[in-house]
Amino acid sequence: MSKAVVIYDDAFLKHRPPHFHCENPGRVQKIVSHLREVGLFESLLVRPRVASVDDLCLVHDRRYVEFVLRICEKGETYHLDGDTYVSPGTKEAALTAAGAAMTGVDLVLRGEAKVFYAPVRPPGHHAGRAGRALTAPTQGFCIFNNVAVGAEYAVRRGAKRVAIIDIDAHHGNGTQEIFYFTSSVLYISLHQDPYTLYPGTGFVHETGEGEGEGYNVNIPLPPGTGDDIYSEAIENIVMPIVRQYRPDILLVSLGFDAHIEDPLTELEASLNTYDLLFQETLRYVESGPCKGAGFLLEGGYVGEVLAKGSEILLKASLGKEYTVGERRTATRESSLHSAKSRLKEVQQIQSRYWNLA
Ligand SMILES: [Zn+2]
Repeated sequence: MSKAVVIYDDAFLKHRPPHFHCENPGRVQKIVSHLREVGLFESLLVRPRVASVDDLCLVHDRRYVEFVLRICEKGETYHLDGDTYVSPGTKEAALTAAGAAMTGVDLVLRGEAKVFYAPVRPPGHHAGRAGRALTAPTQGFCIFNNVAVGAEYAVRRGAKRVAIIDIDAHHGNGTQEIFYFTSSVLYISLHQDPYTLYPGTGFVHETGEGEGEGYNVNIPLPPGTGDDIYSEAIENIVMPIVRQYRPDILLVSLGFDAHIEDPLTELEASLNTYDLLFQETLRYVESGPCKGAGFLLEGGYVGEVLAKGSEILLKASLGKEYTVGERRTATRESSLHSAKSRLKEVQQIQSRYWNLA
């Protein structure tokens, strides 16, 4: 059975900045209104459950969870740091966003959906066990780590192996931190070079530790990286590792901010890169013992890109015809050499753990 669902609730709009902020409710409103226009919303809609405090504590320290929820209950807007706000509605939004990941995992593990797309907010991949992850200066707009809650929940529900592919332009430092010592969750991140972008982690030599050694894959890319290099990375590194790992469920931290038009980063992918990732993951899910794939929204700050990218994901999942409608981008001449040598370096390091021809 091939079935795709959209897991959404207006609760995601209740996390509201006090003044202009690029991470605002308009992002998912744009996605939803576009999916409605193209007839891909109501018919696919599933309402998410609301995560409990105990659910969040699968991956977060209880003190951190209770601290955030207490702030929300005060009824004022509060800044956890220079980037990250908490508003009175954040509690409902954040618990529902994490719940959406769990609902999706349930549907996939029960065989009721092959693909789920959860355009949630607040985003999650920078949230570590106790908030700020690793050496990051801020939480980068994130409150609770939705994809991590989903992955850990899947493990508790019997999945032996969970793979997370993170295509957001920023390194998912929170997700890496949470799963660094386990082999049950494989984390693969493609992101802009940490020397040039928040959060400053995600180097190639961070490969996991202890039981987790070999289960953390960082692919940092220089500013100016376009579709050509992304294709190589996805086809020659990401998917071969995923296929060898043989996950029971595949989750994607779907940030659209690697797009060339995104104002926050200097990566230059087009929607063709996202389309390639969708095609490759869907083909993997259709072909093997993997039960399904879940896509959770992270960053991405251009409404049109979020809207069109979401449409492509759902049409690809449903086997409908579509066109990407963008030209493929080529990596900037000045970055090409360093991008290629970076991929080589990743291949060399990861070849200790995986067969990368
Ligand atoms: Zn991002």
